[in-house]
Amino acid sequence: MGPGPSNIHPRVLAAMAQPTIGHLDPAFIDLMDEIKVLLQYAFQTENAATFPLSAPGSAGMEACFANLVEPGDKVIVCQNGVFGGRMKENVERCGGIPVMVEDEWGCAVDLEKVEAALGTHPDAKILAFVHAETSTGVESDARALADLAIQHDCLTLVDTVTSLGGSPVLVDEWELDAVYSGSQKCLSCAPGLSPLTFSERALEKVKNRRSKVQSWFMDLNLIMGYWGKGRRRAYHHTAPVNALFGLHEALLMLREEGLENAWDRHLHNHLVLRDGLASLGIEFLVRKDWRLPQLNVVRVPEALNDASVRADLLKYYNLEIGGGLGPLAGDVWRIGLMGYSSRPENILLCVGALESMLKTCSALATVHKTLENQ
Ligand SMILES: *Cc1c(COP(=O)(O)O)cnc(C)c1O
Repeated sequence: MGPGPSNIHPRVLAAMAQPTIGHLDPAFIDLMDEIKVLLQYAFQTENAATFPLSAPGSAGMEACFANLVEPGDKVIVCQNGVFGGRMKENVERCGGIPVMVEDEWGCAVDLEKVEAALGTHPDAKILAFVHAETSTGVESDARALADLAIQHDCLTLVDTVTSLGGSPVLVDEWELDAVYSGSQKCLSCAPGLSPLTFSERALEKVKNRRSKVQSWFMDLNLIMGYWGKGRRRAYHHTAPVNALFGLHEALLMLREEGLENAWDRHLHNHLVLRDGLASLGIEFLVRKDWRLPQLNVVRVPEALNDASVRADLLKYYNLEIGGGLGPLAGDVWRIGLMGYSSRPENILLCVGALESMLKTCSALATVHKTLENQ
C-alpha cells in the first residue's frame, strides 16, 4: 500500500511465468497487437501510436520530451511536486527552455497561473503537467489544462503514471497529445514498462523535427518499426517478453472489470479508508476535491513517529506504506490503494494496524505518566 509498485494479481504473475518466446515470434506479434488495442482502451484513445515502452515510467517521461522537444523549444512546465521537477530537467537536457508554473506541494496546478504563462509566452510549443502527482496525492484538472493548451496552440505532454486505470484518463476526449504511464501503479503489473500514446498532432511534430531525436533507443520513428502496424516487424531491441505477458494479462483483467468499474472501485475504497482513518483522528493533507483515490496522503499523528511506524508496519504486518517526499518528508504518509491493492482486506489491515499502534502509544504514555507521578 505504498505509492507503487502495487500488488500483482496471481493471474498476472502466472502469465509472466510462461515460457519465453522470441520477440519476433508470430504468436508474440499477435500478443503485441492485442496489447496495443487493450492500451487504447485503457487510455480511451484511437491513437495508432499507442504501445508500452520497454522501460519504467521515468523513461516514458523522457521519451515524450526527447521526441517532442527540439533545441530552443519553449515548454511550459507545471510543478506541484516531485515529478514536475523532473520534467524541467528533461526539457533542459533536450536543449529546450522550461518556463515554470509552480504551485505549493499538496495543491493542484492553478489554471489561472497556467493561462497567464501561456499568455506571456505565446511562442511556447508544449504544456507539460502531471495529472496525478504521486508525491502529494493531488489530481490536477487535465481536461481544463488541455483546453488552455489548445486555445494557445500548444501540445500537451501529460504524466498519467498514477492515474491510468485508477481514475479517468480520457486521451481523445480531452485531446491530450503525448501521454505516458507506468505498469506498476493502478495497472498492477511488474515495474519496468511505460505505456505511451501519441496523437497525430504530436507525431506530426516529431516527423517535422529539424534535428534527429537525440536518444536512439527512444526515437519514436525507430520504435514504431517494431511496434507499428502489419506483420513485418523489424528488430529494434529484444522486447521484455515476460513482462509483456504480464501487461497483456493485466490489461485483459482491466477490460473484464471495465474501466468505469475500476474507477468506481478505487473511489469507493478510498472513501472507506478515509472514514477508517478519520475514526482514528488521522487527517488528509489534500483538499477534498483534489484528492487522488489511489493515493491517500495523510498527516502523521502527533503521537506517532513516522519512520518507526512504517518500519513496524513492514516488520509486523508485512505492510508497506510510503513516507513523505521533499518538504513533506516526516510529516505525511502516502497510503496507496492502487490496482489489485485496492481491496477491502487491505484497508482493514492498514486501519487496524494503525489503531493498534495508536492504542499502544497511548497506553505507554499513561504508564509513563503514572510512573513519573509516583
Ligand atoms: C512512479 C511515477 C513516475 C516514475 O515511474 P517509474 O516507473 O518509477 O520510473 C513518474 N511519474 C509519476 C507521477 C509517478 O508516480
